[in-house]
Amino acid sequence: MPKRRITKKERERMEQIIDALNKEYRMEYKCFLNYETPWQLLIATILSAQCTDERVNIVTKDLFQKYRSIEDFANANQIELEKDIHSTGFYKNKAKNIIACAKSLCEDYHGEVPREIEQLTKLAGVGRKTANVIRGNIYHEPSIVVDTHVKRISKKLGFTKQDDPEKIEYDLMELLPKEQWILYNIQIITLGRSICTARSPKCRECFLKDLCKSAELGNP
Ligand code: SF4
Repeated sequence: MPKRRITKKERERMEQIIDALNKEYRMEYKCFLNYETPWQLLIATILSAQCTDERVNIVTKDLFQKYRSIEDFANANQIELEKDIHSTGFYKNKAKNIIACAKSLCEDYHGEVPREIEQLTKLAGVGRKTANVIRGNIYHEPSIVVDTHVKRISKKLGFTKQDDPEKIEYDLMELLPKEQWILYNIQIITLGRSICTARSPKCRECFLKDLCKSAELGNP
């Protein structure tokens, strides 16, 4: 992918935004999905497509009691699994992918979740977003997760002009310091849920209003 030219001014503004995010939200690592093992996080993340983390956490509370190992998912009855995950939406595809993914983990990786992005993205139902969630949370590898909040707010902040999540990921990797990659996602989700919501961003209350390109353009 061709490299984007980043000006000194853009870099300085980015640094000010990162400082403001770190000050406001501190630099604590957390995951919004509940899990106890790497494979549980993988399944929770597959379920989180087009679904809120809150709903996924409700569903996985019972799901991980019923299916207690990755082998249990590999051997699951698809129709039954569809019922178990129904409320997360797209349940037919998700059930099919979870079973296929669990089978690959058992057959090819001795039940472990692989670390490399190339291996992760070959698993059924696993795209770059899910792979980066695993790399960041399980292996603490610098990674940028482009979810709906990161996509929307990174554009508002002027960090990217792209719509495609993979292109946004590359833009952010070029712009942001590596040590901020995992934190950026956590902080932007927090901002997107509270102040910069999709429906009505509260720019006047926002601690980034003096630095944000969209606020400068006069959004309420
Ligand atoms: S200033 Fe407005 S658009 Fe910019 S991040 Fe804050 S709430 Fe979002």
